[in-house]
Amino acid sequence: MLKGRCLCGKVRYEINGVLGPVVMCHCSICRRVTGSAFATNASVEARAFRIVSGEKSIRSFESSKGQFRHFCKRCGSPLYGSSKSFPYVVRVRLGSLEDAGGARPAAHIWHGSKSEWFEITDTLNRYDKEPPMELLMPGAASKSAKKKKNQK
Ligand SMILES: [Zn+2]
Ligand SMILES: [Zn+2]
Repeated sequence: MLKGRCLCGKVRYEINGVLGPVVMCHCSICRRVTGSAFATNASVEARAFRIVSGEKSIRSFESSKGQFRHFCKRCGSPLYGSSKSFPYVVRVRLGSLEDAGGARPAAHIWHGSKSEWFEITDTLNRYDKEPPMELLMPGAASKSAKKKKNQK
């Protein structure tokens, strides 16, 4: 069980499952919302993610159409993201976890939008824009394939 919380402690959540690939996003939206060089996120299954307390303190901002960023209204900590197109996945902000269970970084994405004042010195894969779907939404490809199969 992984646990996380916002800075002030009002909002607490837990994850009864495993983290997907840890991805660092350098896009201009993530830079602005974190006030830093990049955001570090990992996907978890929405059914494995549970708000333990402080649900009423969560505010959401639609940063792109159908894409929501959820944060604590009291301290402003970014907590997770969600997408209308992928309701079974939640994108957890890794910095809000008490302990990431030994997760290691997987890749940099939107490298083409990277700030000039941050230098990447690791050898992880870099994607200029969006990475392959599996990196953001593990299992999404198989799920949509299954859906198509069922539609036949
Ligand atoms: Zn808070
Ligand atoms: Zn981003």
